[in-house]
Parts: sequence; C-alpha cells; structure tokens
Amino acid sequence: MPAANALSPILDPLALAGQLSGKLLIDGALTPAVSGKTFPVINPATGKKFAEAALGEKSDVAAAVSAAARAQPAWARIPARQRGKLIADCGRLLNEHVEELGRLVALETGKALRTESRVEASVLADVFVFYAGLGSELKGESVPFNPDMLTVTVREPIGVVGAIIPWNVPMMLMALKIAPALVAGNSVVVKSAEEAPLAVLRACQIMNQILPPGVLNILSGFGPECGAPLVADPRVGKVSFTGSVETGKIVYKTAADKLIPVTLELGGKSPMIVMADADVDRAVAGAIVGMRFTRQGQSCTAASRMFVHEKIHDEFVVKLRAKVDAMKMGDPLDETTDIGAIISRPQYEKVTSYIKIGRETPGAVAHECTAMPTDPDLKDGLFIRPVIFAGLTNQSRVAREEIFGPVACVIKWRDYEEVIAAANDSVYGLAATVWTRDLRMALDATRRLQAGFVQVNQNLVVQPGLSYGGVKQSGLGKEASHEAMLDHFTQKKTIILNMT
Ligand code: ADP
Repeated sequence: MPAANALSPILDPLALAGQLSGKLLIDGALTPAVSGKTFPVINPATGKKFAEAALGEKSDVAAAVSAAARAQPAWARIPARQRGKLIADCGRLLNEHVEELGRLVALETGKALRTESRVEASVLADVFVFYAGLGSELKGESVPFNPDMLTVTVREPIGVVGAIIPWNVPMMLMALKIAPALVAGNSVVVKSAEEAPLAVLRACQIMNQILPPGVLNILSGFGPECGAPLVADPRVGKVSFTGSVETGKIVYKTAADKLIPVTLELGGKSPMIVMADADVDRAVAGAIVGMRFTRQGQSCTAASRMFVHEKIHDEFVVKLRAKVDAMKMGDPLDETTDIGAIISRPQYEKVTSYIKIGRETPGAVAHECTAMPTDPDLKDGLFIRPVIFAGLTNQSRVAREEIFGPVACVIKWRDYEEVIAAANDSVYGLAATVWTRDLRMALDATRRLQAGFVQVNQNLVVQPGLSYGGVKQSGLGKEASHEAMLDHFTQKKTIILNMT
C-alpha cells in the first residue's frame, strides 16, 4: 500500500506539469534523460509551451529495459492473485487522482475536461480493477495424453513487454496494455507519444507507489529515436502498439526480425449504416458519440462514414448539423466547453487539407459548423470547425482515408447489397454500427460487415471485458478482454511428467 510519503493530488495542471518536466520513470524513480535533453510540451489550445519532456533515446531505452528485465523474475514469482491485488490497489490509487489526471491530460492534449479528459481519467481504474480479478484465471489445461503421464499446459509471462502508445486517449490506451501485461507477470516499458507525455508519466508515478521498482517504467521521446530501439531491444519479448498503420508496419517488421509477437491497434474508417426504419434522433445521437465530435474526431474508431438511407438522409444531415452546432468549442479546462483543440500543428494541417480536398470534390456539400472559441487567449489555438460532408461517394478521398479530425461523410444509399459492399470497401476493419428497428436485418448486417467490433443501435466505446481490435489493416489481435491477456501477454508451455 502507499507509503507514508504518498503522492497527493495536484489539481493545478501547470504546477504538476512543472514537477514532471524533463523526467522519465525508470526503476521506480523519476530521472532525466541520460543526455539531459528535453523537448517542449505544447498546449494545443494556446499554441504555447508549458513544460518540457525528457528526450529519451537509445541509452534511456537500454536503462529502462535493464530495470524491467531485472525486476521481472521476482514479479512473476508473486502468486498471480497477489499480483492482481496489487493491480487493484493501483486502480484504487488512480481513482484518488482522477481530477488531477483529467486536468493534466486536458492541458496537454486539448481535449475538453468535462466531455473527454475527466471521463478518460475516471474510467482508467476500471481497466485495472477488471484485470486485477483475472490473476487466478491465468489457467492452462490438463491433457489426457497418456494415463501414465501427467500432461499439462501452463501460461507463463513473456518477460519484458514494450508498450507504445498514441496521444488521443493516452492513459486509457496505456492501461489496456499494462494492466493485462502486469497481471500476467510481465514487466513493462512504456513509450509515450511525443504530444502527450505527462499524464501517462504521472499515472505511472502513482502506480509506482505500489509496484516494485522496475516493474513499470515509462519513457518519453520520438518514434525513431526512442520507440524504434525499444522494439529492437533483444530483451523485449513482446510489443503492444497503438498508432498509425504506417508506424504499425515498421514495428511489425522489426518484431519479425526478432520473431517476437506483436499486438497492433491501428487506424479505421468505420462505417455507420442507418436503415430507412431507424429512429433518426437516436441515430443522430449515436453519430455524435460515434464520430467523437467532443474529441475533435480524433479516434481510430470514429464513425466517419455514415451511410444513411435516402428516405431519411436529409433529415439526418439537418439534425446532425444542428446538434454539432449546439456544442461549444473553447478552452479545454473550462467546464462549459464541449469541443477542444486539435492535438498538434501537423495534425491541424492534415485535417484542414482534407477539408479542402472534400470541398473541391465535385458534388460535395460541406456543412461547416459554427463553433469557434472567442477568447483572445486562444487565438493561436488549434481549433477546427467540425465539417459534415454530404454528396460525396465512398470513392472520394475524404471517405476512404483516415483523417483523425472532426470531418464526417454522410453518404446516401438505396440498395442494401450495395451499402454492405460499400461499407466493406475499405482497407480498414476496426468497428461498424447498424441502426434499424428490424433485428433480422441487423443480425444479417452484423454478420456481413468486415470489422472487429460491431454494434446495433448504439455506439459504445471500448469496454473492459469485451475483446476490441480490428481486422484487415486496422490491426492484429485484441485488447480489453480476458482473452486479450491470455493470447497477448502469456506464452504456453506443455509439461509432461512421466510417472512410470
Ligand atoms: P500518430 O500519427 O498518431 O502520431 P504514430 O503511429 O506515428 O501515430 O505514433 C504512435 C506512437 O508510435 C507514438 O508513441 C510514436 O512516437 C511511436 N512511433 C513513431 N515512429 C515509431 C517507430 N519507428 N518505432 C516505434 N515507435 C514509433
């Protein structure tokens, strides 16, 4: 349990960022990078630097992996249920820090506190509590191989796990990797995203009050200089990665050279099929959640291709636009803000270029929403008005390519066979939703859609307990479930005891 010098929540995110500035967490202690170098952390809502992050490089990776490799055998020897109890304690402690973590992640990512950042911080513990209970479920099998032999399989930890995470939901996506990896008896080295290094560092610092030193380490730095050496380190036996398809392929190739397993959670261009008989208001509410407008559309699961039956198409577009228009864009830390800022300048440029491409596509009607912050302090912030495109086909670039911004395509359809074919006509296959009162049709569509996570008449985000992960170029493997822990963070050994 936490020591007497337990960390107290620090609710001023600037003060907290100052304390974490320039630090990595290796072997249980905050430490600067070996080179002493740092890089700036920018507030996307103002464009101003508010902290520095330690610039982790190869030598820092080596130190973190050494610490993890040293700590792992003793961690694996702790009985599994006891490890689970420690992970539950981590969850409880994280729960005491929800407000500070929410504020810090809002400051560094530009995600609004009320609609996104506090929500992320408050569901974090749930992932730890879910996996904590699965310590005793790391079971193998007994095999009736020969009556004179006892033949069993056991699930063993892999060793040191490298976890590479993105910036959009950094704490939650980190939790989906470290909680199952740790319960299964692995140690972990996390590499945070360069845009959002601080809240995850704080979360790891909090957990390190409970975990033995070296079991959970975290590095900040850039992909090629810090992420790549982590994947390549010969002592790292497994990599779990969430990010872009391009980087996922690089990670996969390096892992292939070492013949180690990987989990890849990559991009998406998820279809939402709204049938003629659907409850339009419910579908519109689902589109708002599905498109993650409150997260500036920065979600790999974003329901960015909305196929709406021609009978209700116009009503759907009008209602969707009205709902997005009613949202307030502004300072992420302001409790009245619904929509915050885009994460970074390159991402801002990418999203605006897609809006331009969409506008220039013949037939396109761009419904641009009005929300924009008025506060002069935010004049250099990375704010983009959400755009709902109508009149585009599934062949247009805006409908085919992942934008990762507040840009939705509403595509009119008439023929059921054609809409299923269009929904599946994508290199991605992460998620899909179907909206109808006809459950026979719904079942048919769920069976035919090529996606790893398909829902009817709702659009829930990732839930602990339910396997989550894409098919096609959306990735390899599952997260969030019991199966994900067994399949991705353990290896099976067969043991035969000859008793003759
Ligand atoms: P995004 O476009 O969302 O930034 P990336 O896939 O580039 O997505 O980044 C996701 C994570 O992968 C980040 O933590 C990033 O630093 C890391 N990363 C980027 N390049 C590499 C690489 N070559 N090897 C390992 N990790 C990398």
